[in-house]
Amino acid sequence: NLQNSLNFSGGPGALPESVLLQLSEELIQVPGLGISILGISHRSEWFAEVISELEDNIRALLGLNEKYHVLLLQGGATQQFSMVPMTLLRGKSTAAEYIQTGYWSGKAIPEAKLEGPIRVIWNGRAAGFNRLPTDDELCFSPDAPYIHYISNETVEGLQFQRVLGRDDVPRVCDMSSDFLSKPGDFERFSLIYAHAQKNIGPSGITVVVVRDELIEQPHAELPSFLDYKTQAKAHSNFNTPPVFAIYAVLLVTRWLIKDIGGLTQMDRINRRKAELLYGLIDDSDGFYQGRAETADRSLMNVVFNLPSLELEKRFIQESQAAGFSGLAGHRAIGGLRASIYNAVTIEAVEELVNFMDAFWRKSV
Ligand code: PMP
Repeated sequence: NLQNSLNFSGGPGALPESVLLQLSEELIQVPGLGISILGISHRSEWFAEVISELEDNIRALLGLNEKYHVLLLQGGATQQFSMVPMTLLRGKSTAAEYIQTGYWSGKAIPEAKLEGPIRVIWNGRAAGFNRLPTDDELCFSPDAPYIHYISNETVEGLQFQRVLGRDDVPRVCDMSSDFLSKPGDFERFSLIYAHAQKNIGPSGITVVVVRDELIEQPHAELPSFLDYKTQAKAHSNFNTPPVFAIYAVLLVTRWLIKDIGGLTQMDRINRRKAELLYGLIDDSDGFYQGRAETADRSLMNVVFNLPSLELEKRFIQESQAAGFSGLAGHRAIGGLRASIYNAVTIEAVEELVNFMDAFWRKSV
């Protein structure tokens, strides 16, 4: 008896109900075409229009100029852990700079090491990845080929509320778990990547936005598929792309633009949701223990613990019986996690807060 509207999964996550309904109809028959979306050629005019509108929507939502290419790639964010250093680091003698703030930035680092020298300029491991670095703790070199960081650590629930790095060194950012959740100064980034399965669609597609000069500059010879330039020239249609996933992302961007009203509105809603959950955690006399330090808390992934493992197990069981799903923490660290991505409504968070409030009161 799990409910779609009460899906707090860390990813793949909840999608807007209206998008799910439209997809369910078009799985059988796309209006005007008469055939299933699963059977439409990626070389059709229909799909060329889908790609073109999606590229425009993402550029518009992020406020990016024409110098940015929007690519829709496969291989997840994990593939970008390699594609970025293949393109920007292979053959270089100066070190790229990485910031290790948690589980996922820790996965990006060994992949980069395979391609060239890197320097980890801050590592939060000693503190158990429960906080982010301050500006005083970060010293960026002007000679680095690029700096890489993760805007939102999905597992630990840590989110930067500022842009890091220097304006004279290309910034690369993994925004997988907070992409299109709030406005920002995105033109300060040379390359942003984000897989779809948190805020913007099903798994199977990763959005990369990359500045022209980054892919035009000379770099190592790469397999065509792994070369951003090939993908940009082909408008992400170099080989057969995941048509369904790309179309689903298009519908989510339309929902963001038309139904929500853009990223400023989305941010307002997301902040309200986070306030409700952290408010309860902070008012629970230590029953719910937030994992991240207050200043670095994520607006997307609310990660917390209960006083005992047994209570955490009971919380998960009872939440499932009440229709909630996805509240178990990431397998790497356990505990509990409520992911409140874009499509999770304020009403759903209110229901979760009511459940948590009742669970606390009867457990103490
Ligand atoms: N980066 C971040 C921030 C993530 O949250 C994840 C997965 N949840 C990844 C990278 C890896 O993504 P994928 O499974 O799409 O390769």
